[in-house]
Amino acid sequence: MSEKNLSRRDFLRLTSLAGMGLTLSQAAPFSAFANNLEINAGHKPVCYFDAFACIGPRKYKHPAEPWKLSELISEMEHCSVSGALVSYTMSTYYDAMYSNLELSNMLKPYPHLFAVWNVMPGLTSEFPPPEELGRKMQAHHVRAVSLHPATNGWNWKAPYQQDILRWLNENQVLTIIQLSEFGNWQDLEELLTQYPQLPILLTSVYWDSQRNLIPMMENHSNLHCTFDNLQNMYGIEYMYGKGLVNQMIFGTNSPTMSAGAHRTFIDYAEIPEDARAKIAGGNLIRLLKGQQPPEEYVNKHEDELMTAVRHGRPLPVPIIDMHMHMLHEGLNGAGWSYTMENGGPKGIFALAKRLGYAGGGFMSWNGVVSVNTAAGNITTSQALDVAPPGYWGLANFDPVHYTQDELKKMIPGLYERDQRFIGMKPYHYIGVSYDDPSWEQWWKYGNDHHFYALLHSQSGNMAEYETLAARYKNVRWLIAHAGQSYDYADKVIAVIKKFPNIYAEITLTAVPCGIIDYLVAGAGENRVLYGSDLPMRDPRPQLGWVVFSRSSVATKRRILGENAMQVIKPCIDRLPKYNRPVIHYK
Ligand SMILES: [Zn+2]
Repeated sequence: MSEKNLSRRDFLRLTSLAGMGLTLSQAAPFSAFANNLEINAGHKPVCYFDAFACIGPRKYKHPAEPWKLSELISEMEHCSVSGALVSYTMSTYYDAMYSNLELSNMLKPYPHLFAVWNVMPGLTSEFPPPEELGRKMQAHHVRAVSLHPATNGWNWKAPYQQDILRWLNENQVLTIIQLSEFGNWQDLEELLTQYPQLPILLTSVYWDSQRNLIPMMENHSNLHCTFDNLQNMYGIEYMYGKGLVNQMIFGTNSPTMSAGAHRTFIDYAEIPEDARAKIAGGNLIRLLKGQQPPEEYVNKHEDELMTAVRHGRPLPVPIIDMHMHMLHEGLNGAGWSYTMENGGPKGIFALAKRLGYAGGGFMSWNGVVSVNTAAGNITTSQALDVAPPGYWGLANFDPVHYTQDELKKMIPGLYERDQRFIGMKPYHYIGVSYDDPSWEQWWKYGNDHHFYALLHSQSGNMAEYETLAARYKNVRWLIAHAGQSYDYADKVIAVIKKFPNIYAEITLTAVPCGIIDYLVAGAGENRVLYGSDLPMRDPRPQLGWVVFSRSSVATKRRILGENAMQVIKPCIDRLPKYNRPVIHYK
């Protein structure tokens, strides 16, 4: 099927509705399209105040991983973030009060940075009781604290340990926590029920916790969250729609994570401007009882890509996404613990259009993570039927659920029947190492047809890639999630230097700050590829990670689109014209 089956008008109407964050059953009439166009014209940038920055030494740190105050300030300036709440690793890993005071001292010259103190019960001679702590906090203008009962070894459930919690609750002090410090979701439920006045900010929640987190926020108005790891598909729009706007907070975990990644999620959110301002900083100022950065800071040297993001406009360069999944139309979830709002073709292509996608390669979710490989190819093929121009498919096969004889028919069968497939996407859940002979006939077929493969390594070592790249030279082997950590990037760089047919696809929730530039410096600007893993993750933070890297515009263009064109070039003639992305610059 092609565009004939879905008129352009229908397509635009459907995608614009999905783009508004509505499911079809809630869909408004055609007028929503006009709203969408208006939003696409951009908006005035809002002032960002980061609720979750953390500096200081940490164990097992990679030498290239940023950790200093100066690196935080540099990242904030680069990404036009006007202020931040800053915590300090030593407040948890060394004497708390000594390090809290050290932090306040360090931040004194910076009126836009505010210390977060790590606090604990005053039951040992090392930490003051609540009233004395309160006086010290006031003297140092500290209005937010963190609690680490697990790491600091105290039992928050014991009644005699709870003076500190009662005091924070009475004084409504913003309390920043991570779930693992308090136990599980049921423990957090207890904490919220017991202390309903305590404004809690939960950081570091992953996108796969939405079924716990979002109903909990609906039931406890004192629970707030950041989106540092909560990069959920249409997450901002969905939670806004649930009435949670006053509980949604911009927080970056910078300089460990990219601040630009996190602001991009909010910059591109399709929500009213007052809601964007609340999430970017307004809610935090309210929780800090008026404490705020003295002025709005804008990076005057930003490039046109960064400007486009800050104004919510599509990027002025074409984007090709090399790592996308697809659910069936109408689905908002994918089994396991995964919620993926609007994760079918309508939702995905609407968002892609809004960001400036020129196309990309996608595979199913059910054929990959749900390990239903044959069914996955049908999902992909059906999504291609309704895809806008520029998109192609990656097939799923596996040698565990199917015999070698079956695969011998299935592999050529699919690729011959459907020319829109040019990629190979096996998965490590199959449990067979990619260089095992049982995969061979697929690699051989791909090699004969000059396909490419996207591989998520199960072992973390590069031996599989090395074996395959040497043996199947016509295949471009893409290492998925190459930007996950500096340690991993080192391995990827080493193997890319050895083989001309290995590439780095970046995506992962961690969005380490500086790692895009690190991969470019090590592997070369022609070997790094943008991918988002949508709809498992929302693509916006992943896109912002590249846009707010320190690379030149020319390098960003390569990562975002031109390198992908090189990867598909050897098999592009096979693709129907409709499915070939067109790269041109405005
Ligand atoms: Zn994936």
